[in-house]
Amino acid sequence: MKEINEVFQSLSPADSIVITMHQKPDPDAMGSALALYLFLRQAGFNCRVISPTNWADFLEWMPGIQEVVDYEHSKDQANQLIQFANWIFCLDFNNMSRTRFMEEPLLQSPAKKVLIDHHREPQLEVFHYGISDISKSSTCEMVYDFIISSGKEQLMNKEIATCLYAGVMADTGSFRFASTTASVHHMVAYLKGFDIQHAKIHSAIYDNFQENRLRFIGHVLTFRMEILYEFNTALIAIPKSDTQKFHIKTGDTEGLVNYPLSIQGIEMAALLIDRDEERKWSFRSKEHFDCNTFARKYFNGGGHYNASGGRSLDSLEENVAKFKMVLKEFSSLQQQS
Ligand code: 5GP
Ligand code: MN
Repeated sequence: MKEINEVFQSLSPADSIVITMHQKPDPDAMGSALALYLFLRQAGFNCRVISPTNWADFLEWMPGIQEVVDYEHSKDQANQLIQFANWIFCLDFNNMSRTRFMEEPLLQSPAKKVLIDHHREPQLEVFHYGISDISKSSTCEMVYDFIISSGKEQLMNKEIATCLYAGVMADTGSFRFASTTASVHHMVAYLKGFDIQHAKIHSAIYDNFQENRLRFIGHVLTFRMEILYEFNTALIAIPKSDTQKFHIKTGDTEGLVNYPLSIQGIEMAALLIDRDEERKWSFRSKEHFDCNTFARKYFNGGGHYNASGGRSLDSLEENVAKFKMVLKEFSSLQQQS
């Protein structure tokens, strides 16, 4: 993988550029993609954003989102864009499998692929250029670095700054995680110079749900949460009947995994959701539980040290049983190391 700083100078106005991110994009994935899109467009390049799947309603207010192509919804159009692209920017994911049904078309496209990401263990062999830096708070911080080092910083504007702020805010847990470095605060001070409305951005993402979502959270915390005090761990396993009963849609379960971490002594929280095609895991920890290795080793996933995800085709019950078994094994492994 060649250096990212060669990329901007190599782009030509005649090139077709595609920007994509991981499936079910979160504010960092969507924010970084839109910020890069708005910036490259301002700089005179021809580019499009493709999301591998649909996205949460709480992202709909983001500048430029109306122009994003949903791969699952507009497959032919998206495949054409991918096939004829000269450059494909891959944001906020480390492995092509994170783009779901787009994986094959992306791998087959002759375009030069550029990675900008902060997850562990990237699939380096499939990217021609890029940067992978796990010390970065967010992909938005990395897109900000890309813009600043492009020599076209003067193209930064309120819309771009708003998208970048949304992503860095979300990925740092509103500036509380250890990844919130002095550079992050410097960047935010710079973005504030563009008159971004930080309170409105926060509210647009976190105070934008329907009543059913809060009642659903009450229900699952009461009936579906199990505390495994021996392992300082909480597990929430949600059957299909719950998501159906409460009319849960994309984005409604975002953040749910964090609730058990507010219990004194709980250091790891796991959330398992029964989706149609698979069972989806989310893992979060404080300090010394390595969620990335845990997800990678047992649940076909990965991510960061304190936040990761995984998936399985086994039933909900089988997953719960496996979780309890491997948690025991992993805890003793961690104690040994
Ligand atoms: P979430 O729990 O919010 O879905 O994901 C938490 C973190 O783990 C995110 O940084 C996400 O990119 C990563 N992640 C989630 N699911 C997967 C997965 O199936 N595979 C890998 N490699 N990473 C995942
Ligand atoms: Mn991210």
